[in-house]
Amino acid sequence: MEEKQGGPWALPIVQVGPTQYFADLRLRQFRDVSNPHNYVDFDSEQGRQMCERTGVVVCRECRMAAIISTALKREELRCMNCLALLVPRVRL
Ligand SMILES: [Zn+2]
Repeated sequence: MEEKQGGPWALPIVQVGPTQYFADLRLRQFRDVSNPHNYVDFDSEQGRQMCERTGVVVCRECRMAAIISTALKREELRCMNCLALLVPRVRL
């Protein structure tokens, strides 16, 4: 029996002030839960901070986004798409 929680379909939610956003990995945006037209790009000042909080990393080679456990050693992770090293951009 598999556990029902978590898994690849779980969308991380990040709270910024009064607004809740979920991470849309395909569009590389945080989208307002109650208003999808309101979004924050991963590749913006605020978006990078929100990526850090939710464990979202974006591959610099192929631009694929993934959610990485903050417990993992990020320096050693590779993109599951192109195998480039995933170094969190916020730390640069
Ligand atoms: Zn990649």
